[in-house]
Amino acid sequence: MAQIKLQNVEDYYEIGEVLGSGHFGQVRAVLERASGVHWAGKFLKLRRSANSRLGLERKSVEREVEILQSLQHANIMTLRDVFESRAEVVLIVELISGGELFDFIAEKESLSEEEAIEFLKQILKGVGFMHTKNIAHFDLKPENIMLADKTMPHPHIKIIDFGLAHRFKQGEEYRSLSGTPQYIAPEVINYEPLSEAADIWSIGVITYILLSGLSPFQGDNDKETLKNILGMIYEFEENYFNQTSTMAKDFIEKLLVKDPIERMTADECLVHPWIKAANRSRSSINMKSFKKFNAKRKWKMSYNMVWACNRLFHLQLQCKGRSQEDPELRQCESDQEDTETKPASLIRRRLSSSS
Ligand code: ATP
Repeated sequence: MAQIKLQNVEDYYEIGEVLGSGHFGQVRAVLERASGVHWAGKFLKLRRSANSRLGLERKSVEREVEILQSLQHANIMTLRDVFESRAEVVLIVELISGGELFDFIAEKESLSEEEAIEFLKQILKGVGFMHTKNIAHFDLKPENIMLADKTMPHPHIKIIDFGLAHRFKQGEEYRSLSGTPQYIAPEVINYEPLSEAADIWSIGVITYILLSGLSPFQGDNDKETLKNILGMIYEFEENYFNQTSTMAKDFIEKLLVKDPIERMTADECLVHPWIKAANRSRSSINMKSFKKFNAKRKWKMSYNMVWACNRLFHLQLQCKGRSQEDPELRQCESDQEDTETKPASLIRRRLSSSS
């Protein structure tokens, strides 16, 4: 059981600016009063009652805390402390000041495959470490891959957001419909028993995007994206992959495998010839297309936030009895711009997981 302090966080930390927002609260800069050290505070709203749809169940927060406590690795955000009040839980975590990896890359003029591999290696090391602890992240996507300090010559990857992560117990069958359409594995969509291999699929999607600026399964709407994933409908379009090495394509093909058992593990990825012989690669990533992808991604992120805020507004109206109950109030994240057609079956957050 996680050690959660029932004290006021502000007695120990001075709360500063907002660094980011998630579906269940904000992440803010905090300053430890005793040491003067800077951290980040993840403020998670707790569900007030069993009937309420706002906020997180305490059990779900405890799971995130317990998982973070057992993950001490250079490429994974570390947890320092946890505070709980009546309405919220505050996770004091390592301050990650370098922003998102994709934003860092998008600011560059060019990026060689060799440089891209150095980042992928760090992602694989972090993910491989959690897999050795029987933990799967289940929400690997560009937004959750950050950099410790982007001013360093070789910036350090930090994997964040363990809100959907799960620790497998021996003999346990775990299914979940949570995730973000573009990045989820076929077995998630099919509501089949899951394993750590679902993370490897997401790394395959991230690698594909990183090299080409294209998202392999993206359809015109979420339904089409999910259909493309299940049908394994993707290709290496020549226009986008003409600068990509054959080895890189081979690597992706070994991650985007429908049967999770046939997918490479994180350890196998790390010894794949493309990753191992990074220094021999003379290819580069499709920067023009990547910049476009990233700009669109950022736009969608802010759009989704506005959408979430609007939902909150409607929810408040409902609480005041001015509107009817809406079954779509559970917050989902969509890859598409038209949120009207979000599939209700794909729930973004910890609402649908079951063992
Ligand atoms: P979501 O609902 O999107 O999964 P969440 O509520 O679980 O989000 P996080 O994804 O953990 O919250 O954090 C939200 C945002 O806050 C991140 O996208 C990032 O920009 C910022 N952030 C998170 N952790 C840190 C950190 N340790 N240091 C700096 N910024 C952070």
